[in-house]
Amino acid sequence: MEYIPIRVQDYAPFVGDQTVERILAKAEPLRGLHVINFNSTYYGGGVAELLSSMTILMNGLSIKTGWRVIQGSPDFFGITKKMHNALQGMGFKFSRIKRNIYESVIAENSIRNHLDHDFVIVHDPQPLPLIRHYKKKSPWVWRCHIDLSNPNRDLWNYFVPIIEKYDAAVFSIPEYAQKLNIPQVFFLPAIDPFTTKNRLLTDREMDERLCHYNIPTDLPLVVQVSRFDPWKDPKGVIKAFKLARKEVDCTLVLLGNFASDDPEGAEIYESLVKSREERILILPNGDDTALVNTLQRRAAVVLQKSIREGFGLTVTEAMWKGTPVIGGNVGGIRYQIRDGETGFLVSSIEEAAARIVQLVKDRKLREEMGRKARAVVAEKFLLTRYVEQYLDLFNSFEPHFELKGIFDRQTAFPANDSFPDPVLKCPPAMKSR
Ligand code: UDP
Repeated sequence: MEYIPIRVQDYAPFVGDQTVERILAKAEPLRGLHVINFNSTYYGGGVAELLSSMTILMNGLSIKTGWRVIQGSPDFFGITKKMHNALQGMGFKFSRIKRNIYESVIAENSIRNHLDHDFVIVHDPQPLPLIRHYKKKSPWVWRCHIDLSNPNRDLWNYFVPIIEKYDAAVFSIPEYAQKLNIPQVFFLPAIDPFTTKNRLLTDREMDERLCHYNIPTDLPLVVQVSRFDPWKDPKGVIKAFKLARKEVDCTLVLLGNFASDDPEGAEIYESLVKSREERILILPNGDDTALVNTLQRRAAVVLQKSIREGFGLTVTEAMWKGTPVIGGNVGGIRYQIRDGETGFLVSSIEEAAARIVQLVKDRKLREEMGRKARAVVAEKFLLTRYVEQYLDLFNSFEPHFELKGIFDRQTAFPANDSFPDPVLKCPPAMKSR
């Protein structure tokens, strides 16, 4: 079978010809631009998911966009996962040994990576100090995907002088803005509707996947798809499910995978295994993207009961499939779910349980919410919008890497009264803080 990469033009049925034309026009002056992305894993987690689709779309626009993954020892990724957790609010002791390992691994990566690009985009904290090791010849952008609503201050203060070497920082939502002397912009992530994970599947394909993993379909399915990670609150999901089961009959499927930069996963998975029961399935087969797709489509309810969540692509994915989502009332989830309309936002196990019961009992409500949820994704969370924001960003850099005019060039993002307005630009007060 000949492989034909997805292009922006393929999105026309979803986003309309005008949007496609506008994106092509914005890409025109950037043709031949050479862009490199750095992150810390090729698979597992939202950043890899975004990069894998985005780099293909960008190349289709003749923007030569590459993707490199930093290498590191298990020690290094143990430290960077703790850093990730600390930036989401946990405690962290950055001992001299840890700092040495972290900084040495980054220095080694800089020796291996020769950069002569027009833009360098560095994702998340793991590769952040790379910038220290290069003579800057082009703009560098730090794209932080994590929930920065309450970062550990000591660690944040360590990072600030490094971040301020960058020419701009991109966060997922305005609440993550920080006191920094560089411009900050806000791009909500988005999904690729053409991947195996998100495209339409036939009933036969879905039945085959469910049968393959012995997932019973006699009762409604309640599903959470997430890396095995404490922030995703898998234990809370099990508790909420057990409460709900006192009132409705259903089956829970907790599907997870492991990212190469997340050594905590195996431990969390082990801690969950003992909760398995006939109606509580805990499956580590989350790298099977057709299974993820199937579960998100066949679920009566999808949960994403996160305690912190930078954005939460799993929410978008389920909404796109017309499945109502019960999401933790945190971070980026609040920008996707309109409570009571396109899903439910919850702040406790009891609330989650009550919403499971309500949705499992009420097919009409599920269908109505699911329909509205899909419309929200079509309007706001498809990858063309994300790509366009990057084009706006690239087009906004002036000589000497000054970021100007992005605020005028940004595509208006339809706001809504009952929905936090995902301001895509830097609030003026933030710029000078
Ligand atoms: N994912 C997956 N299998 C799993 C768990 C997660 O394919 O078992 C994917 C999920 O479909 C989504 C991404 O990993 O595309 C997770 O992104 P999200 O923003 O929800 O969370 P993150 O893992 O980045 O914190």
